[in-house]
Amino acid sequence: MSISRRQFVAASAGCASYLAAAGPFLSASALRRWSGIGARRVVAQTPWARIEEVGEGMYAIISTPLDGDFTTVCNGGIIGGSSGTVVVEAFNTPEGAAWAAGQARALTERWPDQVVVSHYHGDHSAGPAGFAAEGEGVPRLRATAATRELVEGSPGDEAAKAPWADVVVVPEDGPVEIDLGSRVVEVVPRRGHTASDLSVEVDGGEGPVWCGDLVWNAMFPNYMDAVPSRLSRTVRALQAIPAGVFVPGHGPLADAQAMSRYVALIDSVEETARYAWQRGMTADEAAESYEVPAELGDWMSFNPNFHLRAMQAWMDELAGAEY
Ligand SMILES: [Zn+2]
Repeated sequence: MSISRRQFVAASAGCASYLAAAGPFLSASALRRWSGIGARRVVAQTPWARIEEVGEGMYAIISTPLDGDFTTVCNGGIIGGSSGTVVVEAFNTPEGAAWAAGQARALTERWPDQVVVSHYHGDHSAGPAGFAAEGEGVPRLRATAATRELVEGSPGDEAAKAPWADVVVVPEDGPVEIDLGSRVVEVVPRRGHTASDLSVEVDGGEGPVWCGDLVWNAMFPNYMDAVPSRLSRTVRALQAIPAGVFVPGHGPLADAQAMSRYVALIDSVEETARYAWQRGMTADEAAESYEVPAELGDWMSFNPNFHLRAMQAWMDELAGAEY
């Protein structure tokens, strides 16, 4: 599926109204951060996502699901080299993946030959069937064995899961390099958001870092499967990479300042959870008592339960002392 020029222009024109529609829920500063105003060159814009250039031949896909268009949902990327193109993430739907592949071809003159999926959650992993297109090769899907097992074991459309049978497994004991000729892409096993996460790094850590859902920006993170102390350590390890651009799993692009804000956010969650734990409070009571510190700005939530999930994850960890 490729999007026609006419559809594309119509979609671009619709974007302003999409942002206007989101406006009532977001403060002016949050809206500015979301809309990418003053950000990098935007090379594509649709109701569900925009694509920003983040280096020569490298692009961040920033999904904008705030208005209810869930074609892609998660952020991702396109990394072009002289001998190949990598797409980061398989997105929420085959249509989203097909759109990303078409954009990769338009921007790098190649259909993607590799796709890296950061973790098993459906908004990152449900779309790989969309990478198959007539006259194009089927890209190699790379993910950890844990991610593959979790995707294959999850409820959902069997046809949509079929591409997962051919995954090239990324071992969890060290990074894997994908040689694209003019650049090397490093796929790094990490943990914290789930039992098995991957980050994607380029140019020896100086290029952009695709963080998967280990990092969120301007959106409160989902702790559904998190081991919070491990998340905290992993986020600090990512923050230490001397990159100028961090692509979060959700929300607008992050720079060093945004990374600091995110670290402060997850630290504030930890502080509240530990305080509540020491006083024998429940996760519900902890969530009730928690507020994002005002100096960290607006952090919107996909789901009103995200504060509770965060506190529950901490309570579970503190109860099990598994860190
Ligand atoms: Zn996600």
